[in-house]
This record gives sequence, structure tokens and C-alpha cells, in this order.
Amino acid sequence: MSSAQLPKLSLLINSFLILTLILIGFSITHCKTNLLYRSPPAYVFGTLINISIWGLPQTQAQTAVNRILQDLHTLHHDWHPWQTNSPLVNLNTTLANNQPWPTAHCPSLVPLIQQAQTLSIHSQGLFNPAIGHLIKLWGFHQDEPPQGPPPDPLTIKNLLATQPQISDLEITPQHIRTRNPNVQLDFGAFAKGYAVDLAIETLKDMGIHHAIVNAGGNLKAMGQKDQQPWLIGIRHPSGQGILASLSTQGAESVITSGHYERYREYQGQRYSHILDPRTGYPATGLTSVTVIHPSGAIADAASTALIVAGPKEWQNIARQMGITQAIVVDETGTVFVSKNIHPRIHFQTPPPNLVIVDLS
Ligand code: AMP
Ligand code: MG
Repeated sequence: MSSAQLPKLSLLINSFLILTLILIGFSITHCKTNLLYRSPPAYVFGTLINISIWGLPQTQAQTAVNRILQDLHTLHHDWHPWQTNSPLVNLNTTLANNQPWPTAHCPSLVPLIQQAQTLSIHSQGLFNPAIGHLIKLWGFHQDEPPQGPPPDPLTIKNLLATQPQISDLEITPQHIRTRNPNVQLDFGAFAKGYAVDLAIETLKDMGIHHAIVNAGGNLKAMGQKDQQPWLIGIRHPSGQGILASLSTQGAESVITSGHYERYREYQGQRYSHILDPRTGYPATGLTSVTVIHPSGAIADAASTALIVAGPKEWQNIARQMGITQAIVVDETGTVFVSKNIHPRIHFQTPPPNLVIVDLS
């Protein structure tokens, strides 16, 4: 492992410890720990995956977790944006050559693209999974944090002029084609939320109704633990410790986007991995956005879109995307909480500036 990967790994370990501490803390007050199965952390989707299952014999829970991890590994491979043998890379190459791509090569990509098309429109194009060229240009198509100065402004301008949109794709049962050969798909903003939805559905199909699937702070929970809500931690935008804990209600996803997760650093300035498709430059103004929604896919697309929307527009975009529950932190440290989520949140340290907003 390169030294450049160490900060990222320590962040992942940090997030694992946070969830572990919360779950352990909760278990101490509720002593039936033998009914709680917590999987050892696995590395998938470039992050640590933790799965917790309540109320099942340990061996049965372990079997279910193994099945979920196997599925997640497959999806990670299918949707990987730069691994040379991944079906998504094959699709991107085919689209760039203006050729039709047979959907039979990787059926799991079809519903992923279709839902992303809808959500991109709802976000007014701020969630734009067709900007793979731009994401690569900024150096985020690699595991290590990118080094050196930001890309040349003219190259950024030229890429913006090509206006790639996921709505440029035409999908028939047999083929995917593009009206714009500059579309390059990257589902980094969407795949984890979409995948935790699928994982929870699979657990339900297996007769499991109390579980959390957590992909590096992007999670979906269902049911309860020992007749109490699951208690989860929301990471602090500094990347250190937790901002708040939230008790979940029924089946819901809690998805966070933050600049601290991945960035390029050059001459003391940080350039976030979340890019504004309108300017070609990293989004600024908000440091972290957590969206709470029954659908992980919607919450994931929205968390990215709201960060891009920035301080002035995030509430409008949230309403357009049907998001009513969110926790948003801006660059001054002000924390905005939607009024319907406020009663379920406990802040570690009360924020100096807390604003309650109504997104309904
Ligand atoms: P997230 O952590 O869910 O906000 O996703 C961030 C990742 O999504 C980045 O690492 C990029 O791969 C990709 N991405 C960056 N900006 C955008 C955008 N505006 N729309 C869609 N995907 C993006
Ligand atoms: Mg996202």
C-alpha cells in the first residue's frame, strides 16, 4: 500500500470505529449481545462494509452476510469506472466509439442507468453521472489521492462544451446507444446507495427484517435492535469523530457526501472530488450533506446534488428531488437540520450555529 493511501485508510478505519463504538455502546445497555451479529469489516466499493443483523443465530447471520458481500463484490466489479476489465469501462469505450452496447453483457447496469437518468433530471443536472471525463481529468479515477496542480482551465472548458448528460443515452431491451460520444459514465455518486438498497432487499428475501448495511457511512437500516431503533453515527465534516447520532425509523437510508472523503491537495488548497457540472470545478460552500430517505439510491444521488447546489440552492434542489430530511453543514460550520429529523438527532457537541429548516 502506498503512503498516499494511508490517510484514506485511516478515514475508513475511523468511520468503522465510529459505527462500532455506537453499536457497542448501545449493546452495553441492552445485554442480549448474542442476538447481534456484526460482520468483520470487508473492503468493497473502495470503502469498508459493515453489516449488522439482529435476532438471528450467529451462523445464519454469517451465511447471509457472506451472500451480501459476494453480491456487493460482483456489483463493484460490474460498475467499476476505471478497472480495465469492468463491464462499465467496456460500455464507456463502446459509447465513445459511437457503437451500440449489448445490454446482455451486464444486465445490472440497465436499471442503474435508468434510475440515474430520472434522478439527474430531478436534480437539474447537478447529479450528473455522465461526467466521467471530467472526474478522470481531476485525477479521481485512481485509488490514490491525485497530486499536483489542478487541470488546465482550457481543457476543463473544452470538456464542459461537450455537455455530456446521462439523458443522452437511449436504452432498448437489447442495446444502449448514445447521442453524445462524450458521455462517460461514473456512478461514484450513486452506486453505494443503490447497492445498499439491493442488499437490504436480498436480506428481506432471506427472511431477515432487522439489519444495517453500511458502506463507509452510506447505509440502509431496517427494523430494530432489541425493540429499540438502530442508532447510527453521522461523521463530522472534519473527517474526525462524529457530528451527531440518529435513531432510524423503519427502513431508511442515511447517506452522507463530504469533501473530506477524497480530495486533491495542492499548495495548501484542497480540491474536492465532488464536481460542479456547470463550472467543471469542485463544488464549494457546503462541507457535508446527509440525506435521510427510504431509498438509498435517491439519497445518494441527492446528497451529491445538494453539495453541488451549494448554500443558496440546496433547499430548492432538495424539494425538487423529494427530499424532506437532511442535515447540511456549510463552510462556516453552521448546521442546517430539517425540522422533521431534528427530534431524532443527538449532537455530540451542540453546534454553535444550528438552523432548523422546513423542506416539506
Ligand atoms: P458522493 O460521495 O456520493 O457525493 O460521490 C462522489 C463521487 O461521485 C466522486 O468521487 C465522483 O466519482 C462522482 N461525482 C463527482 N461529482 C459528481 C456530480 N456532480 N454528479 C455525479 N457524480 C459526481
Ligand atoms: Mg452521492
